[in-house]
Amino acid sequence: MSRNPSSSARRAAAQQLSGLRTAGVTRIVSRSPKKLPDDAGKKTAAAEPVSTVAACPRSASLFEAQRSTMPRDEREEKLRMLAARVAQCTRCAELATTRTQTVFGVGDPEARIMFVGEAPGADEDRQGEPFVGAAGQLLNRILEASHLKRPEIYICNILRCRPPGNRNPAPEEATNCREYLDGQIEIVDPEYIVCMGSVAAKNLLGTMDSIGKLRGRFFEYGRAKVICTYHPAYLLRNPAAKKDVWADMKLLMRELGVDL
Ligand code: URA
Repeated sequence: MSRNPSSSARRAAAQQLSGLRTAGVTRIVSRSPKKLPDDAGKKTAAAEPVSTVAACPRSASLFEAQRSTMPRDEREEKLRMLAARVAQCTRCAELATTRTQTVFGVGDPEARIMFVGEAPGADEDRQGEPFVGAAGQLLNRILEASHLKRPEIYICNILRCRPPGNRNPAPEEATNCREYLDGQIEIVDPEYIVCMGSVAAKNLLGTMDSIGKLRGRFFEYGRAKVICTYHPAYLLRNPAAKKDVWADMKLLMRELGVDL
């Protein structure tokens, strides 16, 4: 028998987890903030900006061990099936008749970070991919500055159809589309969700607070940590807020062990 207290504590916890699994518990949501690794935020010797997050291993805690172990191909298949359902969706009569196509989401099905926006605009409606217009170009620059590559994150919206004239999503539309968003979150199972803009933050977190109030801290949604920041389209109109988004990205990346 091991005399190492930490290994016996681990074994006891593993037994408890195994018991919970036998009892049908498949998910444990960490309610307290995760302890960051001791070296989180310290500059690494080789400051390699490419794919820093993809290369950064998930921290090994008991809770992390319970993250989804769904194989990549199964996630891809589940996302494909969900996207096929979305493509047929007529829950919002107006959106279903005015859209060119649905805009499901794009990115790595195993992404550690999911970015959630508001709804497709004209460019996205035409191309079938989120954030490909002017706001998308700015998002790409934000990602690049943050040492993130678009294919290694996952991007989607509160709505999967373009509201005519780019009006705000109606509450009922967001409710209709919620099952799809939650499905994507469940399949991708990101560690972090970035709410871009107040529509995303309000709908995901069920708050009426402004982004100004929500910024600078982490919330929980399921087992993902959620950070809220300004929408890229807002930055196009208010460039002075870019420094705030940069501070938010630094906060997020520091959690991932990357100093910007
Ligand atoms: N704005 C959004 O919120 N989502 C998009 O996909 C594009 C612009």
